[in-house]
Amino acid sequence: MQELYADIIVDISHEKLDKIFQFRIPEQLQSTIKVGMVAEFPFGPGNRRTKGFVVGITTECDYDKKKVKSLTGIAQKDIGVESELILLAEYISKNYGSTMLQALKTVVPIKQKVQAVEDHILTLKLNQGQAEHLLKTYQSKHYKAKVRLLQQLLEAPNHTVRKSQVIRQKIATLSVIKAFEEAGVITVEKERNYRNPNSSMKLQKIADGQGIILTKTQQECVEEIWQDSHSFYPPKAHLIHGVTGSGKTVIYMELIRKVIEEGRQAIVLIPEIALTFQTVERFREMFGSRVSFLHSKLSKGERFDQLERAMNGEIDIMVGPRSALFTPFRKLGIIVVDEEHEQSYKSETSPKYHARDVAIERARMNYGFVVLGSATPSVESYYKAQCGEYKLYTLQERYGKRSMAAVEVVDLREELRQGNRSILSRRLRQLMVDRLAKKEQIMLFINRRGFAGFVSCRSCGKAIKCPHCDISLSLHNNGKMVCHYCGYETPAVKLCPTCGSKYIGAFKAGTQQIEEIVKQEFPKARVLRMDMDTTRNKEGHGKILSAFAKEEADILIGTQMIVKGHDFPKVTLVAALAADMSLYANDYHGGERTFQLLTQAAGRAGRGKREGQMVIQTYSPDNYSITSAAKQDYKLFYEQEINYRNIMNYPPVRNLLAILMTSLEEKKLNDFSEEIKRRIMAEPVENIAVIGPAQATVSKLQDYYRKVIYIKHENYDILTKVKDSIERFVKEQKKNQECYIQFDFNPINTY
Ligand code: ADP
Ligand code: ZN
Ligand code: ZN
Repeated sequence: MQELYADIIVDISHEKLDKIFQFRIPEQLQSTIKVGMVAEFPFGPGNRRTKGFVVGITTECDYDKKKVKSLTGIAQKDIGVESELILLAEYISKNYGSTMLQALKTVVPIKQKVQAVEDHILTLKLNQGQAEHLLKTYQSKHYKAKVRLLQQLLEAPNHTVRKSQVIRQKIATLSVIKAFEEAGVITVEKERNYRNPNSSMKLQKIADGQGIILTKTQQECVEEIWQDSHSFYPPKAHLIHGVTGSGKTVIYMELIRKVIEEGRQAIVLIPEIALTFQTVERFREMFGSRVSFLHSKLSKGERFDQLERAMNGEIDIMVGPRSALFTPFRKLGIIVVDEEHEQSYKSETSPKYHARDVAIERARMNYGFVVLGSATPSVESYYKAQCGEYKLYTLQERYGKRSMAAVEVVDLREELRQGNRSILSRRLRQLMVDRLAKKEQIMLFINRRGFAGFVSCRSCGKAIKCPHCDISLSLHNNGKMVCHYCGYETPAVKLCPTCGSKYIGAFKAGTQQIEEIVKQEFPKARVLRMDMDTTRNKEGHGKILSAFAKEEADILIGTQMIVKGHDFPKVTLVAALAADMSLYANDYHGGERTFQLLTQAAGRAGRGKREGQMVIQTYSPDNYSITSAAKQDYKLFYEQEINYRNIMNYPPVRNLLAILMTSLEEKKLNDFSEEIKRRIMAEPVENIAVIGPAQATVSKLQDYYRKVIYIKHENYDILTKVKDSIERFVKEQKKNQECYIQFDFNPINTY
């Protein structure tokens, strides 16, 4: 029989993860032992019988074979949530191409050493109305520190801030805090007491629905999902395609309530940007102190505490971004992925996993189920629903029959023809004048993303594309236009190849420039700008949004981040200034992102009682992403988009694996990437398409040269096999190469 070895971790905590030991697996255990099990072995001084987790099984021994001891037995087949997280790590490392250690570090929570000095937590005791009233009083009296502290509390998640932060950031002094406490505005608690919910917070009974009665459609949706999830194993993932305001959140909450009644727990994934005060409040109202939130403002210690509370059964629901997926609940019943189309669900660092797929795997391991929801589902999920892999539910109406915004498309080519070269079309200007006169608010945004750099014609609207990939070419400093999928190059043009116009060039428009133009044209309007520059520090983002919410400005200008997930009842006009910017991004998601963004932006206009309007300015008014967004018709968009993906063999119709190779030495990288390509071609796989190696969009980063190969195949598992074979090859070659390799399955970013 073959020699087999087990990689063992004695203590599955983040700090101890690097300490992996190896033991020989005796013959009688070879057929039963699995990753995630607890094994027994002689260990340490006196060879005490010790237990540890199996995190890998391999034929290769990394130590001196003679000195490696043998396992003595398997302790228990399943010991709960630790085993589950190890299995999840194994799934991630296999399916996304990373080492087991990288994957374990992703799923196992980081423990923080106990802080030397104990901090205090300040909690606002007033309700929103009272606090806002008090804020006005302070403002009128020019109590600057009090205003700052109260604003801070109002904006903070759960209305709590740390005392140390207030002092450190010079928000207020100790005497102001004291005064607030004495006036009953806040409570001040030692952090330890605060963190321990039994001492300071009474356990609240779950409110039964808070008076919300589900509509017939909502009720049917809940029942069908429930029935289905309790009749099949594993149940299909449920995809709710519901327009904004149709009650998706109401449905999630009802399902969660039922799951908790069964004695099981729930994870709700929400993009960080949508984890607003309103969202937190809504979950708190419904589930009281049984719900906890993870977000980037938590310290590592606070974060670890929340995860520990989950492990100890002190909470039932965890709400948070991608990483909340690894909350160590012991009896997980449901995972909700809200705004499932959001890119932030894909990890940008290795392992480059997608939370949607890992959620489905984790639910399967727990006999639970997954609910995905979006007003603009990802093409990938909708495709899976069409193929029968997911189950689709459609909610077409807003609750209370509130109407959708009216959308107008303005042709910027026509503006040019009429001699208007400004970024503001005549129609948009006219609407802005109207809204300003009515004292209503306006949002203007550009959907810029990363390295646009595409070349397009302002007369006919055509962007220059790669003849092989149907992807926009990017203009480089050396005067060439390059395709980042296949490496195709051609000199930059001076005249439009389609219409001969000289108005052709790289597309440029920055938020700062737009701010200047708007200020010139509307000198009396109060303008706020939100982009990477103005939101560099963590609070910047919230401050700008809350200033706009308080109507301290008439116009908000920004990148796409201003239209994601925020509600401003006074906004009645939203405009995309140049929808083309995301349309011609240099990867195949351009159409999808444009549609999603425009549709969501339309949802931002007219959230209150007044009718909303949206204007889409574009050089490509006939492009289907734009025409279908104008009609807010998802299906119309999907049909055409899936056609394009099908013809071009892009995901989700085929699977795509990006292989990024880097090295300090260009020549070595060139040889290495050719070698890798030969290796892939040598595999006896049918119908595989290999593109590249090509220079990456960023061809050199921190002194490392970067090249990329794309592989397409219908079958995901085939791609993981190719990946395994490349990994083996790289391992064998390691000694004489100085090149590095990373895998990205169905990538969201271009390389
Ligand atoms: P979505 O998540 O699809 O955007 P929400 O669940 O947030 O939709 O619902 C939109 C609004 O309509 C919310 O204010 C919600 O409270 C309200 N709403 C939805 N369904 C009901 C219902 N059955 N009864 C009362 N209010 C409802
Ligand atoms: Zn042209
Ligand atoms: Zn190409």
